Amino acid sequence: MIFLRAAALTSLFACTLALRPAPADQNTGKVDSTEDIDRSIKAGDDFYHYANGSWLKTAAIPAGQASYDTRSILLAKTTQRVRDLIQQAAATQPAKGSVAQKVGDYYASFMDESSIEAKGMTPLADEMAVISAINSKKSLSAYLGTTLNSEVDGLTGNADHVFGAWVNQSCTDSQRYVFHLLQGGLGMPDRDDYLDQSPKMAALRDQYRSHIAAMLKLADIDDVETRAARVLALEIQIAQAHAPDADAADVFKQNNPWKRTDFVTKAPGIDWGAYFQTAGVSEQPAFIVWQPSAVTGTSALVRSESVDLWKDYLRLHLIEHYASVLPKAVSAEHFAFYGTRLSGMQQAPDRSQDAIAATNAALGQAVGQLYTQRYFPPEAKARAKAMVSDLIAAYRARIPNLTWMSPQTKQKAMAKVDALRIGVGYPDRWIDYSTLEVTRGEAFGNMRRAESFNRLGNLAKLNQPADPDEWRIDPQIVGAVILFSPNTETFSAGMLQPPFFDPQGDLASNYGSAGAGIAHEISHSFDELGNIYDDQGRLGSWWTADDLAKYHAAAEKLVAQFNGYCPLPDLCVSGRQVLTENIADLAGLLTAHDAYVLSLKGKTDVVIHGLTGEQRFFLAFAQRWRKAQSEATLRRQIKTDIHSPGEYRSDTVRNVEAWYKAYDVIPGDKLYLRPEDRVGIW
Ligand SMILES: [Zn+2]
Repeated sequence: MIFLRAAALTSLFACTLALRPAPADQNTGKVDSTEDIDRSIKAGDDFYHYANGSWLKTAAIPAGQASYDTRSILLAKTTQRVRDLIQQAAATQPAKGSVAQKVGDYYASFMDESSIEAKGMTPLADEMAVISAINSKKSLSAYLGTTLNSEVDGLTGNADHVFGAWVNQSCTDSQRYVFHLLQGGLGMPDRDDYLDQSPKMAALRDQYRSHIAAMLKLADIDDVETRAARVLALEIQIAQAHAPDADAADVFKQNNPWKRTDFVTKAPGIDWGAYFQTAGVSEQPAFIVWQPSAVTGTSALVRSESVDLWKDYLRLHLIEHYASVLPKAVSAEHFAFYGTRLSGMQQAPDRSQDAIAATNAALGQAVGQLYTQRYFPPEAKARAKAMVSDLIAAYRARIPNLTWMSPQTKQKAMAKVDALRIGVGYPDRWIDYSTLEVTRGEAFGNMRRAESFNRLGNLAKLNQPADPDEWRIDPQIVGAVILFSPNTETFSAGMLQPPFFDPQGDLASNYGSAGAGIAHEISHSFDELGNIYDDQGRLGSWWTADDLAKYHAAAEKLVAQFNGYCPLPDLCVSGRQVLTENIADLAGLLTAHDAYVLSLKGKTDVVIHGLTGEQRFFLAFAQRWRKAQSEATLRRQIKTDIHSPGEYRSDTVRNVEAWYKAYDVIPGDKLYLRPEDRVGIW
């Protein structure tokens, strides 16, 4: 189901509270431009508008978007590059078996609508026959096992079939992989879509029921109205068993170990022997059940509801799942509900857009190889790695001086910073796609085979020791994945490009922009979020009560500082709401500055465009936060976002001594803070 899967792509994976959506955290900025400065403004009075004034005067929010920043530019640029690479692979004839051939043929097959049309519903025939042959709870259970797929992760979404598999390091032992069983089986994305009794949601369910009927009709099934009503009723019951989505982020609620033998007693209904056999995990002795109520409840429904009802449900989900590679009548009906009704899109995107998303989803690291070969060569990776090692060295020097951390906690923090694995750009070892066959003209077959390949690849990890350098985000995505368990961070090549990071560009700007961004994320390992995972990514607090109290006390000044920012006449920032992110911004800025100084190895930086290295460092930091946005989005951000508006994130510089020196900021300047009023948590 393409809409749900696309959402998962931009999110992060973790069995942790620390899922950090890269879009908000990793805003990007122009790193080497002095043209965007407004020299009529004194830096010490309004640093954000000094750094960005000229840019802000010309920045226009594109139609259909709520805001515009350099991240928008970066995303647009990367999207275009990925599109070009995939289309070029499709237009040429790369060597058979090469990743370019697979990428090109996957895309071309998806685009070949006439071939898809000509095949009609026959690609589903074999699978439909298997469903029709189900004649007992045992064979139903066995079939459900075959639908277990691994496209889900701990937080980003529920599987579109009964249960999803997520193979990841254990939250209590990062040395090994464990099988997490996740809730799934709903056609609509949210549990509340089924349970909310408001007229609006009741109307949505009516539309979903009509959609179910339409989909079943397209598969030549009779009596579709009655069947659709029953299938919807079944999904409502499944939804009742589901845990709320918010709970999925709470590892303390979701880290439930079940032995293989527990399923029979804790969740009677499904024939678990048959289920695990066909799912390919019959040898697996233990599982983590992410949402026990869903497993128990869904299993009970297998017992209580008729095999015939389940067969209709399975037929529906089979068609939905492959709608994008079935005839136009099917994909159009799918879009009418998921695109228009649920997502508010008036017009289906160009098919090529779906084809690119599908190719990325199926062959993420294959596209990633093509992308990095052209746009992120080994020299770029080496540059980024050097910066990361300076950041780590800076943290190692800074931690012993923290005033709020006790000596024994500092030892644990040092162990954690030593154990932290940071990946930049692309993996050292790529996924080997040699056993995945991609054949031009077989859109459905290619999707099936890719799903199976990715699922088997995930399940195979269960028999291997955990790979501490496992790569978790496709290089061509503009984003980052921060995991506390295991203790790893990954920054994609799509993010490490100008203006955020320029492999051939100015060091001072790189450290002020990308450096401060990466250092921000590292700091979360040591703050209230990261405090519940140790150096090995095991669940368990490592701060003392005294550390926590001192940390909170030190943070109060920062709360007050941000409470004082009022971008709208009737609305001020809530310092408490944005505190955790502000602390990370401060830690990131201070540490990135240390790292920048380290990178100079005692030399003085050159002057470029009339700016010293120190000036360019802070300028890049402020330019990273530029954003054009409507008042409505600004208002919503202030009310709901845990990140402050960019202007005030940029004003973090007020707490940093080096900024005062770099820009000669003195008492009387509007941003000037007396030394005793500056915040020094880090
Ligand atoms: Zn953050």
